[in-house]
Amino acid sequence: MERLQKIIASRGYCSRRKAEELIASGRVKVNGKVVNEMGAQFEANVEIKIDGRPLVAENEKYYYLFHKPRMVVTTMYDPQGRKTVADYFKDNKSRLFPVGRLDYDVSGALIMTNDGEFADYVTHPRYGIRKTYQALCKGKVSKHQVRELVSGVVIDEDYKTKALDAGIVKYDEKTDTTIIFLIITEGRKHHVKKMLIAADIYLEKLKRIAIEFLNLTDVQSGTYRPLKPHEVKSFY
Ligand code: URA
Repeated sequence: MERLQKIIASRGYCSRRKAEELIASGRVKVNGKVVNEMGAQFEANVEIKIDGRPLVAENEKYYYLFHKPRMVVTTMYDPQGRKTVADYFKDNKSRLFPVGRLDYDVSGALIMTNDGEFADYVTHPRYGIRKTYQALCKGKVSKHQVRELVSGVVIDEDYKTKALDAGIVKYDEKTDTTIIFLIITEGRKHHVKKMLIAADIYLEKLKRIAIEFLNLTDVQSGTYRPLKPHEVKSFY
């Protein structure tokens, strides 16, 4: 017997944490009945439906590194009709979902997979997966402000968070902008944006340039490449 959220994740529908949200919102049926308590356990081969659609296991696991453009939503469907990451994977036969989230106006590295356990691993702060961001900021960012990001700032009223590292890449006098980078291992909603606000840094554009060792070299905006088996393994 296994927990329902684990079975959903192992069938490649989404991460375990996302599955918990689906269960809590009453979208999951087991043997024809809605199950919305979290502790429920079933046989791994139980009949599951999500939003009325049967959930069959996909045995083959897929992993892609996608270079998300700005103005694209990190979901597979958008009720407001905006462009979503799914639009870039239309020819792909497998059921994929994004690992974590990039905001609508943020570009950069995003992993797409059908491996729910992998998604949990990459997104959970416990595993310390490093995400590197490059931020184009208004005005001249000082060394002191960047140091503040590393020593720690408070976001969400009382949550202290710090960058593993941060630094100034360059200041451009002509445009009066500074490019900085920062590395974080967490991913609260608007995490980097809130950190920059806390340090009085005015953001113009944000891009995630790497997830651990995966960077966007050779992955043009709006395209993707499969991860190599050794790249997938290196995460664990
Ligand atoms: N931090 C943000 O503020 N937005 C993102 O999309 C990612 C990290």
